[in-house]
Amino acid sequence: MAAKLRIKCPHCGEVNNFGSVNDTCPKCNKPLGLEEEGSIYIYRQGSPYGIAGGFGLFINEQPHGYIGNKELLRIPVKFGTYNIHSAVGMSRKCKDLQVTVTPENPVVYTKVYIKPGFWTNSFVVEYVDPKLLDL
Ligand SMILES: [Zn+2]
Repeated sequence: MAAKLRIKCPHCGEVNNFGSVNDTCPKCNKPLGLEEEGSIYIYRQGSPYGIAGGFGLFINEQPHGYIGNKELLRIPVKFGTYNIHSAVGMSRKCKDLQVTVTPENPVVYTKVYIKPGFWTNSFVVEYVDPKLLDL
C-alpha cells in the first residue's frame, strides 16, 4: 500500500500531499525545507458504517487535512510527542492517541476508525501492526 506524504507547509500552513519533503508549496511557492526525523503513518480502516467523506485529522490540534476511506498517509515529523485526533462535522468525539517519535522509535503506525454508538459515532485512533498495512 503506497502511503501519501501529507505535509502542512511550515511557511503558510497550507496542507497538501507531496512527493517529497523537498517539494515546493503550491500556495506560497516556498520550498518546504522540512527537517524530517521520523514519521507518523495513519491508516483509515474501511468501515461498513461509512461516513463517505474524509475524516478530519488533527496533529497537536493543528488541522492536517482529511483522510479518505482506506487511505494511508505518512506525516513526516521531528522527534517529539504528538497527539492524533480525528473529527467530522458534528462527530467530534474521539479517543485520541499520543505517540512519541524518538531516535530509537522513529516511525509509528496508527489507524483511525469509527466506533458506532447509540446516539453518536466516535472516532478511535490506535496503534496498528505495520504488517497489516502491507507497505
Ligand atoms: Zn506554503
